[in-house]
Amino acid sequence: LLIGVPKEVAAGEKRVATVPDVVQKLAKLGFEVAVESGAGEAANFADEDYRAAGAEVLPGAADVWARADIVFKVRPPTLEEVGMLREGATLVGFVWPAQNPELMQALQARRATVLAIDCLPRQLSRAQKMDALTSMAGISGYRAVIEAANAFGRFFNGQITAAGKIPPAKVFIAGAGVAGLAAIGTAANLGAIVRANDTRAEVADQVVSLGGEFVKVDYEEEGSGGGGYAKVMSEGFQAAQRAMYAQQAREVDIIITTALIPGKPAPKLITAEMVQSMKPGSVIVDLAAEQGGNCELTVPGEAVVRHGVTIIGYTDLVSRLAKQSSTLYSNNLLRMTEDLCKAKDGNILVNFEDDAIRGLTVIRDGELTWPAPPPKLP
Ligand code: NAD
Repeated sequence: LLIGVPKEVAAGEKRVATVPDVVQKLAKLGFEVAVESGAGEAANFADEDYRAAGAEVLPGAADVWARADIVFKVRPPTLEEVGMLREGATLVGFVWPAQNPELMQALQARRATVLAIDCLPRQLSRAQKMDALTSMAGISGYRAVIEAANAFGRFFNGQITAAGKIPPAKVFIAGAGVAGLAAIGTAANLGAIVRANDTRAEVADQVVSLGGEFVKVDYEEEGSGGGGYAKVMSEGFQAAQRAMYAQQAREVDIIITTALIPGKPAPKLITAEMVQSMKPGSVIVDLAAEQGGNCELTVPGEAVVRHGVTIIGYTDLVSRLAKQSSTLYSNNLLRMTEDLCKAKDGNILVNFEDDAIRGLTVIRDGELTWPAPPPKLP
């Protein structure tokens, strides 16, 4: 079968779904690969690199969509793109079915088979190799620290120099999931003093193992809402948490927020008052900006200065590391393809006996198969 890789069309999206290295590995599984000219350009992969890896480079998007048996994408396709998808073809990429009902209908009408990488049952250890949510979250956590360091006027690490003694920066991380843990490790490696909080107490050990200090909220309530995700906390907990965050805001130089609750708006953890209480020159990076933000003063997609504090609400952090994110994302898709093509004969078998594949498959031959039943855990 032929795997087609069109250039991403969303504004500001620099990632590409398949990098040249992965083209070679897909060829070993028996697939042909066709890439739209310029598809990898923003991630620093030239058409020439794809040709050298054995891909065919086609001049326009329409050529790729028309030829592909399987389309590899990053972002959910636009309706215009779905219009170009061949009837009965397979689409792989981020889809977010709950948020995109119109897209789901359009894909069903094309009698497509759709593998939504965002629907992977992440709790299966076997599925970790395909977990693009985790690989992308890790990159955004890293990049959040880099953005913070860039906007901050001092060193992260403490130094004793002939020109004076410099204290280390203090960084507070709200939410210690995949992105938060990556941010903790990165900030600690740069030499900052790192503290973190999460409503799920189970992450405390991981925070410490990465060089951070876990700061508890003075209120007993379990924060797990099932599947490793958080729940909305009680009013009492939230009040106690606000008091603790207000204290941290006064003390630290940098706050990175990553808190999300599935299917709910991002919890508002940093109030305008807390921002006002921070030292001038402090920085907040709000990774929840796209879901409404953890900070009351975040402007999604922008960096703004409020009360002398730079508040960064960029929603394209992974795209700002396009080469790295494209490489990890295409490795995730490669691992998935290996499971779909056990025979290494260039064909795919969407095997519903396989819990990981079952979870990913949101439409099969035009028929809605989402949401999948929960996987059987070993
Ligand atoms: P996420 O992006 O949904 O949330 C980020 C973090 O914010 C979470 O740790 C959450 O607990 C925290 N949070 C939510 N509300 C908060 C609040 N009010 N105050 C403070 N913190 C708050 O989560 P994620 O990074 O996608 O990870 C979720 C879970 O899934 C983690 O436990 C992760 O280890 C787990 N996971 C497991 C696997 C696996 O087992 N293979 C793979 C990936 C992720």
